[in-house]
Amino acid sequence: MSTWVPVPEGSGFGVTNLPYGVFSQRGELPRVGVAIGDHVLDLAELAGAGLLADRRWFAAGSLNAFMSAGRAVWQPTRDRIITLLTDMSYRDEVEPALSPMADVELHMPFAVPDYVDFYSSREHAANLGRILRPGSEPLLPNWTHLPVGYHGRSATVVPSGTPIVRPSGQRRGDHGPVFGPTQKLDIEAEIGCVVGMPSALGQRVPTTAFRDHVFGFVLVNDWSARDVQAWEYQPLGPFLSKSFATSIAPWVVPVEALEAARVRPPEQDPPPLPYLRCDEPWGLDIRLAIELNGHVVSRPPFAGMYWTAPQQLAHTTVNGAVVRTGDLLASGTVSGPTRDQRGSLIELTWNGNEPLELPDGARRVFLEDGDTVRITATAPGTDGTPIGFGGVVGTVYPATE
Ligand code: CA
Repeated sequence: MSTWVPVPEGSGFGVTNLPYGVFSQRGELPRVGVAIGDHVLDLAELAGAGLLADRRWFAAGSLNAFMSAGRAVWQPTRDRIITLLTDMSYRDEVEPALSPMADVELHMPFAVPDYVDFYSSREHAANLGRILRPGSEPLLPNWTHLPVGYHGRSATVVPSGTPIVRPSGQRRGDHGPVFGPTQKLDIEAEIGCVVGMPSALGQRVPTTAFRDHVFGFVLVNDWSARDVQAWEYQPLGPFLSKSFATSIAPWVVPVEALEAARVRPPEQDPPPLPYLRCDEPWGLDIRLAIELNGHVVSRPPFAGMYWTAPQQLAHTTVNGAVVRTGDLLASGTVSGPTRDQRGSLIELTWNGNEPLELPDGARRVFLEDGDTVRITATAPGTDGTPIGFGGVVGTVYPATE
């Protein structure tokens, strides 16, 4: 399948990807588009010209209206966009709806009613157990029986590029708690799944109904203050150590684009309870890369995640709780078995005891003011070209008084 739009080698935004986002040009209102090569295709303009259905889904400042329309709309819309970009006979009509990526501003792609963060990498959970609870079992007894998670703060889910102001809070001191800017500002590289079709109160979403409810996947950086976290997290879990900022990439990769990335997840032993069983292979061969000030410091592999997104959604709704359009279910930090696959600085530097040596001669344990973190990811595509997730970027600014 080839498109008439020029797609640079290694762009990640070929015609088998077509991630959705929200963009604007100078003086115009934000609207929905898809990325193709170095361009954004304006779906509102195409709908206005009668080339796509229902303009209300696309002439909007978020993806939520389109995502709430359900799979019966997502699939034909995607098929239609592919036709418009591959059939030469549409070129003259469609080309005016393309804008160079460099000329547009990218916005928060969807409104997030609720944000859940899981803890689904066995390697990450075991590393954190060893660091935070030395001398005890790395995994707590419930970890292999359910996808552990907590409810986060949706109001501070922010788009890529939003400045990250160093948060202040309480941490443990030698003579009782002290207050001040965190001294252990960290990242967590994650993949989030985005709910499209909501569920009803009391309705469970079984693992087999995953594709009916989930629209796509997005890169997440769950910024964390480790000293605040270590002091506050028992007994109810993280609170202020996580709620100051969670960044997401501007592009949502549709579930349909990841068909060639699906793999069998690691075997689950002991077998989970029946409501968590999932016979379809929903591991995803997504390869992340973490750059600190332009240097790649880790390449976490998503394929090794122990709990999968359908299991996380089934668990979230098994008590009858509702999920809504735009709900973000983040995977938890993605960490692999080797040091250069760890998805957070607390693991990469073993809580600051093993500093990272960067190629420019700098040393880091946790983030310093002025540091920039960029997380990217790719997955195999159906025609052999990679599926890119764009990037989620944030720069650290000094704490405010
Ligand atoms: Ca997290």
